[in-house]
Amino acid sequence: MSNIVLSGVGIQHSYRDGKLVTPVLAAVDIHIGAGQRIGIIGASGSGKSTLLHILGGLDTPSQGEVMLQGQALHTLSHAARGRLRNQCLGFIYQFHHLLPEFTALENVAMPLLIRGESRAKAQAQAFQILERVGLSHRLKHRPGELSGGERQRAAVARALVTQPLALLADEPTGNLDAQTAEAVFQLMLELNQELKTALLIVTHDLKLARRLDQVFELSNGQLLPWSG
Ligand code: ADP
Ligand code: MG
Repeated sequence: MSNIVLSGVGIQHSYRDGKLVTPVLAAVDIHIGAGQRIGIIGASGSGKSTLLHILGGLDTPSQGEVMLQGQALHTLSHAARGRLRNQCLGFIYQFHHLLPEFTALENVAMPLLIRGESRAKAQAQAFQILERVGLSHRLKHRPGELSGGERQRAAVARALVTQPLALLADEPTGNLDAQTAEAVFQLMLELNQELKTALLIVTHDLKLARRLDQVFELSNGQLLPWSG
């Protein structure tokens, strides 16, 4: 396959806590091409978040390799991995993880400031994407002053403000009512079309999953094609 943005090869993972070993991922292979839209479903506890964290470079697998833009993450220093992640990936957590003491605009500008952009440029780009997700009237609101759907749209904006090659989203609509979930999902699909951002979406919602290009089910530590 050409233009692979992110891949995991032979990913195995167990959590170890003293003598307690919890095997989670047995042998996972996944390749995400540019602009591709991939879904992952699976029972609670099947290892979906573990896999997403590993692919996003937030966790190191017990075995196997994650390649981001042709670079093996485990060969990079902590700082270099952080920079590559900031350049190439956006992450949406199940619970929004916005910083409570900062406004929506400041939260969304943060990845650009971390990247070293000027405050003026970061805020201008943050404004543009907040406008795109329909939040230009909530710039100065702090997360606690936004509704659940607005917070999740702000999280989408923060993940996409850097125009990443791939967006990893962990049940991004899991805590939203059906109508708001649809709006947030639709927004991700539109941004995928506009910005060509590849999507890797973990979801419980089979109806949403069916609208992606390819869906896998994680079961017994393995990722298998799901036909719905
Ligand atoms: P999912 O996202 O599919 O619900 P997770 O990836 O969060 O599943 O968890 C997979 C399994 O690994 C679960 O059984 C969970 O209890 C276990 N697990 C997750 N995080 C840890 C941890 N830090 N230490 C030990 N076990 C963990
Ligand atoms: Mg999870």
